[in-house]
Amino acid sequence: MSNIINKADKYFMNTGKREPIVLVRGEGAKAWDENGKEYLDFVCGWAVNNLGHCPPSVVKAIKEQAQTLIQTSNHYYTVPQTELAELLIENSVMDELFLCNSGAEANEGAAKLARRYGKIHRNGAYEIISLSGSFHGRTMAMISASGQQKYQDPYSPLPTGYINVEFNNIEAVKAATNEKTCAVMLEPVQGEGGINVPSQEYMQALREWCSQNNILLIFDEVQTGIGRCGALFAYELFAVVPDIITLAKGLGSGLPIGAFMAQKKACVFKQGEHGSTFGGNPLCCAAAVANLKYILGNHIASHAKNMGEYITNNILALKEKHTVIDCVRGKGLLVGLVLKEEISEKLCQQTEHNGLLVNNVQKAVIRLMPPLIITKEEADQAVKILDKSLSELGY
Ligand code: PLP
Repeated sequence: MSNIINKADKYFMNTGKREPIVLVRGEGAKAWDENGKEYLDFVCGWAVNNLGHCPPSVVKAIKEQAQTLIQTSNHYYTVPQTELAELLIENSVMDELFLCNSGAEANEGAAKLARRYGKIHRNGAYEIISLSGSFHGRTMAMISASGQQKYQDPYSPLPTGYINVEFNNIEAVKAATNEKTCAVMLEPVQGEGGINVPSQEYMQALREWCSQNNILLIFDEVQTGIGRCGALFAYELFAVVPDIITLAKGLGSGLPIGAFMAQKKACVFKQGEHGSTFGGNPLCCAAAVANLKYILGNHIASHAKNMGEYITNNILALKEKHTVIDCVRGKGLLVGLVLKEEISEKLCQQTEHNGLLVNNVQKAVIRLMPPLIITKEEADQAVKILDKSLSELGY
């Protein structure tokens, strides 16, 4: 066992299972461990490294910014955060934003904004409806919003004001709506819940219901945003415009940054009602600006769409050979390989052995989230490893 693994196991709280691999270097879609073994990285720092490991334009921006200005108080304006704000707002249907540090914090901010809206425009309404199977982060409020018992049970009683209803069922949202409801919050594609895609009709009906009842519609695009699903924002794929969008993961190309953006009518914070020390930090913003410029300038989102279809079709072509494959679902490069048996853990271990990192997001669902710059050759190599690994396991 590696010295690093022994030390880490000694010093860290045991909050999550780790693979016995020490990654020391990354470049594009590849990463290497301390023994020099090469992996195709389809975990991507949990769908974060949208341009792969250490993309040159982002590295350059980080280096330059680190030599110029790393952190200031938000009491002052800075160039990188203003540039980032302009890029995000001018390339979306949103009007204003707030910058923070993570996905959970972005969602917390969105929930606070929705409560302010409820207080001002809906007689103090404060409840947020969210969906079963959802994942919105690890803060107390966000585990209350996340409709998965395994995250909630260890911490009950949970903060109140979050109502979990059945995924993709508009009648469930309608039944849960009352005078206390201020917002509905959902991921346009559920990531951690197993790559669950809601129907177009559901998304449209949700938009109509929220508009009719003066309730805000919040899209948690922490995982789906910044090109991951084949459009800069996943709301574009449904042609449904939310009132608030949250972002993180792919925004900073590996640096920790989050954001929530809102339509004018929902921008109801007054001075002093929200804030962050590190949110909008110049270093993270410089990385995010370089990342977004590359994604926009090189049509990376449409490449992600094409590559998502390519990988999906190539996996589906293995169905006859490996009957354990049920289907493939998702959008763009947020791909869920659904299996007929609960073998995702051992399949991930086998692909890892064969040089491909993927995630066993559910017992019978493998999540593939390669960098959006993936090439056909790399996609072919990944599917080949999946094929080989399934054969080796006797499926
Ligand atoms: N929302 C979604 C949809 C996520 O997938 C995640 C993380 O996986 C989060 C929120 C939480 O983000 P973070 O871990 O940056 O707090």
